[in-house]
Amino acid sequence: MAGLSLRNVKKIYDNTVVAVQEFNLEIADKEFIVLVGPSGCGKSTTLRMVAGLEDITEGEIYIGGRKVNTVPPKDRDIAMVFQNYALYPHMTVYDNIAYGLKLRKFPKRVIDEKVREAAEILDIAELLKRKPKALSGGQRQRVAIGRAIVREPQVFLMDEPLSNLDAKLRNQMRSEILKLRQKVNTTFIYVTHDQTEAMTLGDRIVIMKDGFVQQVGTPQEVFHHPANLFVAGFIGTPQMNIFDAQLTREGERYFVELGGLRVELSTEKCARLLAGDVDSQPVKLGLRPEHLTLTEENDAVYAAVDVSEMMGSAVHIHVSACGQDVVIVVPLSEEEETENLPIGLPVRFTFRGSAAHVFDVETGHNLEYPQKAEPEEEAPPAAPAPEDAPPADQPAEEAAASEEVSAGEASIPVEQPETEMPVPAGPADIGDPFAEE
Ligand code: ADP
Repeated sequence: MAGLSLRNVKKIYDNTVVAVQEFNLEIADKEFIVLVGPSGCGKSTTLRMVAGLEDITEGEIYIGGRKVNTVPPKDRDIAMVFQNYALYPHMTVYDNIAYGLKLRKFPKRVIDEKVREAAEILDIAELLKRKPKALSGGQRQRVAIGRAIVREPQVFLMDEPLSNLDAKLRNQMRSEILKLRQKVNTTFIYVTHDQTEAMTLGDRIVIMKDGFVQQVGTPQEVFHHPANLFVAGFIGTPQMNIFDAQLTREGERYFVELGGLRVELSTEKCARLLAGDVDSQPVKLGLRPEHLTLTEENDAVYAAVDVSEMMGSAVHIHVSACGQDVVIVVPLSEEEETENLPIGLPVRFTFRGSAAHVFDVETGHNLEYPQKAEPEEEAPPAAPAPEDAPPADQPAEEAAASEEVSAGEASIPVEQPETEMPVPAGPADIGDPFAEE
């Protein structure tokens, strides 16, 4: 268990590709952090720098107060589970989980205890004698996680661990990871491109785009107070509707005007805009589909139905309004049944002032949260332990070894029949960066 600190971390590949920059994050001990963003935004690179699988071009990374920039992966006391996890096909589930502990010459009794405990946690105790080819995708993923759990690492790193599973299994494994988190009380950094996964798993979410952190916050914070248009659009499903609208200031009150409707912003929003001395201006107005309500009132935005989708607990109504597509989510109560609305049906909708998000037209920044000016000089970081000093709570043998089969480096397709499989004699054979030499 350990906190982490990433300070001004930057990664440039091949002197040309800037994959990550200005990455600053303090992660508390036992916190569950999710890095999320579209493909190519730098999530995996960040995780791999924490793991020690990529050099850091600039900046510093501390794990448990120890600077690890030059510490090899096996000495960082971390465990990593990859998207393309690899299991040793010729070994049973038991031996796959036990392998790293055997390498580290743990006593048999201790190994047995740890393997059975991990299997219990992951609900695979019945499968310990099976070989990987006799397991489902979800079960194999549990074995890969089991192999990481028994190491009792200070930090658990997971890189899209569920993305190879089908949708149903993914949902199931997502709740398994939530449970796992209760049982394995350690620090997690989890990478995903899936915002639902991020929202359900993270204590805090780091949203990234083009190598830059866009916002760090709890799921509530990033949903209700998106820092910019990108975060507003990325978090939440269906996506937030974005309109061209007008923000008007009248003394200490603010209004937004959209398609003839004028709505006063909530007291909290007005207070924040006032604090930033925001003036009347054209804005990008963000309204979540679930915050739009159909109304009979004349004082409303007029729209016409394009299509309505019955989702069971709600109807998603796609309408044309203000010259664009707009989605309205209408929740249904248990008795309510609804017909699909006919195409072209005129409807009206409205929204409350607490639901309106106003963004700068040029920069996309949320006008409630003005960008802070860059500090002249960065505050000195909290004094870290000297680079070479091991963390106080890390026993020598814990620091001595670390193993995880890295399929990222050497994919071993577990689906293939055993006879056709390359059989690695040890992690070194498959380029395992976490292995003991
Ligand atoms: P993500 O995990 O968010 O999909 P990555 O961290 O894998 O993104 O990649 C970030 C950027 O760095 C991308 O533009 C990607 O093409 C580039 N990149 C990743 N790995 C390498 C590499 N080994 N060499 C050169 N460029 C790389």
